[in-house]
Amino acid sequence: MTQLTNLLDLDPAQLVAYCGELGEKPFRAKQLQRWIHQFGVGDFDAMTDLAKSLRDKLSTRAMVAAPAVISDHTSVDGTRKWLIDVGQGNAVETVFIPEESRGTLCVSTQAGCAVNCRFCSTGKQGFNRNLTVGEIIGQLWMAEFELRRTKGIEPGPKGERQITNVVMMGMGEPLLNYEPTVTALKLMLDDNGYGLSRRRVTLSTSGVVPMIDRLSQDCPVALAVSLHASNDALRDDLVPLNKKYPLHELMAACKRYLEFAPRDFITFEYCMLDGVNDSDANAMELVAMVQNGAESVSCKFNLIPFNPFPESGLLRSKTPRIKAFAKILIDAGIVTTIRKTRGDDIDAACGQLAGEVQDRTRVHERMRSVAEYQQKFGKNFGRLVEVTE
Ligand code: SF4
Repeated sequence: MTQLTNLLDLDPAQLVAYCGELGEKPFRAKQLQRWIHQFGVGDFDAMTDLAKSLRDKLSTRAMVAAPAVISDHTSVDGTRKWLIDVGQGNAVETVFIPEESRGTLCVSTQAGCAVNCRFCSTGKQGFNRNLTVGEIIGQLWMAEFELRRTKGIEPGPKGERQITNVVMMGMGEPLLNYEPTVTALKLMLDDNGYGLSRRRVTLSTSGVVPMIDRLSQDCPVALAVSLHASNDALRDDLVPLNKKYPLHELMAACKRYLEFAPRDFITFEYCMLDGVNDSDANAMELVAMVQNGAESVSCKFNLIPFNPFPESGLLRSKTPRIKAFAKILIDAGIVTTIRKTRGDDIDAACGQLAGEVQDRTRVHERMRSVAEYQQKFGKNFGRLVEVTE
């Protein structure tokens, strides 16, 4: 049997090449892309302005297949979380965060993660595999059109767009799944795709220095860096990748990235861990690091109250401590935000604080039962947090 090509795996140029292989002109690729990414159509018969002969060819050789949704929960505050099946007992999360003036989707790029940050429950489950382009962009495809269906909003450019911002802060280190991540980014930015501006798409990395440089050339979008520590000894412990790419290299890469970035600052994420990285001295070290003469990095800090999970052995900093920490940064002239929790009632997970998705035991039974997933992702699961300006 012929293997069907999943058209969600193809970026605009690849779709043109694919249509060429079918003996079709490049403009057919644009039409196809609009049907798929702007109208959310996966059924070739419904693509009415394509010639019948092309629709027939496509129906025997291609498909539009986003990964299946295992569960779908909406919080009282409107946060919506999908658990997405990516096969072989693996699942990832996609979370939609509605706000007054924007709707943000947090997508995953890997099942599990090899970086193993100490405060991250995703890291604790280890690395399973890289997601394909179709699995990454499929999260946006599924979410945008599902949100529209729920609200009765028509598909296509005339309907009100639900997802205005995308953050790659879900499960995984996007820069360790580079090619599929960049292809998915290109589709997000493409005018015949989702048409998002580079400023509204943010990639979050734990600091894979050479790939930050590559991204600056291939597809510079807004950049967030999971910093979490103010010196190398501490960061070696919290973010083990630091042993390979220490802070001075990371800061230099951030500075280089800014020459190509769509925003004039890097966002540093800093998870607030009680008694570990939250002292006044830590805050002052951060100030010295980012305001270092010619080496200074234009930046903004997001302080993230840690969401404890049992295996971490870590606790959330107390609120007054977080505020005192923030004040030192703010007094030094650094824009600093503290995130507040949200989506608690559905255990929505914040990107890198994502909860454990794969239970290595009884995987197959669990895959059959949404109820068991719900039980598994109980009260102790990571909580979604959002920025309060
Ligand atoms: S914080 Fe990000 S990079 Fe670190 S283990 Fe978790 S998912 Fe991986």
